[in-house]
Amino acid sequence: MKISRFKKSHKTLVFFASNFDYREPYQVLIDATFCQAALQQKIGIDEQIKKYFQCGVKLLTTQCVILESESLGAPLTGATSIVKRFHVHKCGHEGKPVPASECIKSMTKDNRYVVASQDRLLQESLRKIPGRCLLYLHKATPVLEAPSKASKKWVQRRAKNLMLGKQVEKIDYMKEKQGLKPAETAVKPKKHKGPKNPNPLSCKKSKKDKAKQQLKGVEQTAITKAKRKRVKIPAHVKAALGKD
Ligand SMILES: [Zn+2]
Repeated sequence: MKISRFKKSHKTLVFFASNFDYREPYQVLIDATFCQAALQQKIGIDEQIKKYFQCGVKLLTTQCVILESESLGAPLTGATSIVKRFHVHKCGHEGKPVPASECIKSMTKDNRYVVASQDRLLQESLRKIPGRCLLYLHKATPVLEAPSKASKKWVQRRAKNLMLGKQVEKIDYMKEKQGLKPAETAVKPKKHKGPKNPNPLSCKKSKKDKAKQQLKGVEQTAITKAKRKRVKIPAHVKAALGKD
């Protein structure tokens, strides 16, 4: 495999691993359309995918995929026999099979699957959901599709929210520092390391402090007066009350 191709696929895998928790071994969910294309191109899926990923992969399918392929009969006999070779993951439709595309969509809701399919409609609908990873065959070559617009947008939005969150934290911290807001997260006050006895220098200031306190007292009464003023009943209301 050419280095540039490896770089591309590696970059895509890193994107999904770091933003959407995809982990090695990467689980590749394969449908019959992918098997059919591989058959037409005469390539071995197992060998090609492992060579392409160059890391741990697990190839699997579901019962719904197999049943749909079987139901399509002769044209897909080869594909059916290929898809049956992969490990079958439980999909929750046991006894009540659904179309393969529906099954795959539901499988990708809670799990990190790389969806290997040539089904255009399935690909389109998965591209609209952030975090869906697609693999397809371009002629005989597997291609891991670059992240969709929806995936990229989701990541950008999350980064933005993270930044906003950090800004809010910063503002909260500044407010807290200036005594505008009580500390919610217990930032332990630093222990006073000075002498236990009162500082004689600060004692000298006591008169000033008293004066300050008196001043504060005056301010306080002024505030309460102002408040009282505000509560004062307006003249017209008084007049209206007087009539009663
Ligand atoms: Zn299913």
